[in-house]
Amino acid sequence: MTDAFDAARLATPACAALRAYDPGHDLPALRARLGTAIAELGSNENVLGPSPRALAAMRAALDDVYRYPDPRGAALKAALADRLGVTAQQIALGNGSHELLMMLAQCFADAAHSVVYSRYGFAVYPIAAAAAGAAGIAVPALPRTDARAPLGHDLAAMAAAVRADTRLIYLANPNNPTGTWFDDAALAALLARVPREVLVVVDEAYHEYVDLPDLAGALPFTAQYPNLVVARTFSKAHGLAGARVGYVVADASVVAVLERMRESFNVNSLALAAATAAVADEAHLAAVRRYNSAARSWLVDELARRGYRCLPSQTNFVLLDLGRDAAPLERHLLGEGVIVRPMGGYGLGQTLRISIGRRDENERLLAALDALP
Ligand SMILES: *Cc1c(COP(=O)(O)O)cnc(C)c1O
Repeated sequence: MTDAFDAARLATPACAALRAYDPGHDLPALRARLGTAIAELGSNENVLGPSPRALAAMRAALDDVYRYPDPRGAALKAALADRLGVTAQQIALGNGSHELLMMLAQCFADAAHSVVYSRYGFAVYPIAAAAAGAAGIAVPALPRTDARAPLGHDLAAMAAAVRADTRLIYLANPNNPTGTWFDDAALAALLARVPREVLVVVDEAYHEYVDLPDLAGALPFTAQYPNLVVARTFSKAHGLAGARVGYVVADASVVAVLERMRESFNVNSLALAAATAAVADEAHLAAVRRYNSAARSWLVDELARRGYRCLPSQTNFVLLDLGRDAAPLERHLLGEGVIVRPMGGYGLGQTLRISIGRRDENERLLAALDALP
């Protein structure tokens, strides 16, 4: 008898320690079964969609789809550099910011290094560290009772967790899945404390949704701190999640290192065209922000009237804290055609993450809650 072939035994230790991505629900199957009678509030997508100019640019780019994309993404970098007040040399483009978050660990950390992140930070950070073979240091989050950022990042504890072998700190601001944030003063204090040999990666996937004045974000600090890396994406407020395009802004030497690892045509031509046009459409982004702010506060109020507490959020989702196992409620909602994100995988089984949907979707959610036995 021959042994069954199992390639897992051949994988590198770092790869063997990983688990494949768990997408949660099988959305294509649910859509096929339930049709339009479904409210998709599980993936933090922008229900207003992308700028019409982005869609038009994408359609126009179709004619040339037989050609390779611009491997440098020069037009998109120029548009971003102009908008953000940085140079094109300070920008790296990714197939979504997820790819860049992974590449940062691959380029700067290996088995000799450690990577610091927060206990309830974005799920990609521990995966990026593990895939690079580095040791992950999960710093305890702020307590549930913290008034400003319950379950959020404890920046002082994170700075204190940095060791001699630490190469990267991942911060999400605002954070997914908590929706919480830290202000610019807290970031300034962390940057002042952390040695320059440690890259501070601030993931600002939800930056465009922020409407607080004390949360300008990390970008203004890049001039002073060459070890600061700011990650952003077109997947959230720009409504281009399916196109897969994100970017980082960093010191030109950090970008040059990432460029060594980057796959030559990682961002496809349709995505480049759409993102470049999206940068130019400020009015659409403003409309998205207005809708999201209003719909989020309306939904939080309606949930509160029904006795449901949400963590404070500066994003396009809220984390509903049930205070007891949330699995039965999640099942009930699914039965009513309302898809939310279960949080057991994060160790937050008493919570559900709920994206801000269209008005009719948000109302479906409330109706489903009102239909609870
Ligand atoms: C959605 C998200 C991302 C980005 O995802 P991409 O689609 O890969 O750009 C990055 N960080 C956080 C915290 C997110 O929630």
